[in-house]
Amino acid sequence: MRKKIVAGNWKMNLDYNEGLGLFSEVINMVKDEATGTQEVVVCSPFIHLHSLSQLAKGYNKVSVGAQNAHHAESGAYTGEISAKMIHSVGAEYVILGHSERRQYFGEDNELLAKKTDTVLKYDLKPIFCIGETLQQREANEHFDVIKSQLAEGVFHLDAEQFSKLVIAYEPVWAIGTGVTASAEQAQEIHAFIRKEIAAKYSQQVADDITILYGGSCNPKNAAELFAQPDIDGGLIGGASLKSRDFTDIVKTFN
Ligand code: PGA
Repeated sequence: MRKKIVAGNWKMNLDYNEGLGLFSEVINMVKDEATGTQEVVVCSPFIHLHSLSQLAKGYNKVSVGAQNAHHAESGAYTGEISAKMIHSVGAEYVILGHSERRQYFGEDNELLAKKTDTVLKYDLKPIFCIGETLQQREANEHFDVIKSQLAEGVFHLDAEQFSKLVIAYEPVWAIGTGVTASAEQAQEIHAFIRKEIAAKYSQQVADDITILYGGSCNPKNAAELFAQPDIDGGLIGGASLKSRDFTDIVKTFN
């Protein structure tokens, strides 16, 4: 059975104390909610990671992740953070390829392929984000965009490495806009992603991989999205900054 995940992406929000406060609330609220194959992940700014990992100890359904990592293992990259550093503070996941990184920091598929390798080398699990812009959807290019993001970003991995990934489908036009993809639109792409994975690797690899939906997911629309056969949870931005909303999304699985 593939894992169900609700992951929060705090982006560049919350100072250190605010982050610790929110995470403590979330742990208290979700500790009895995440059951079975379900996992709750909070992807915070780097400065929170060590403390959040300490707080998450003892809750095996709650994990912590970063939002980025450098592609190099170490060296003269002033201001950057390596996968080894992230691993050393107890984080388990790293978001890679978020559309904000692609758009504002020029991260392309080639760079993301290198980042994926480095992150896997340090035993971290990438949450690899893909998704089309509004312009690409309107030009009916969304399937091609998804296909090349997979092919160029992660399909160089062997099946064993690839199986450590979580994929997040995040249509760029739905991120932070309040416009969610309909359950049908999201399911259509998720099924397509799974089909591409089955063709590249095997049906078994495709069946076992967790594919999250992200983009204006909230307590009101989560149930319908998560009920789709190929949607295994969500990557939650805005709604992860409120403990009640985030917990309500986690509870959607129960
Ligand atoms: P949103 O962000 O839920 O605020 O739309 C999702 C994301 O960017 O991961």
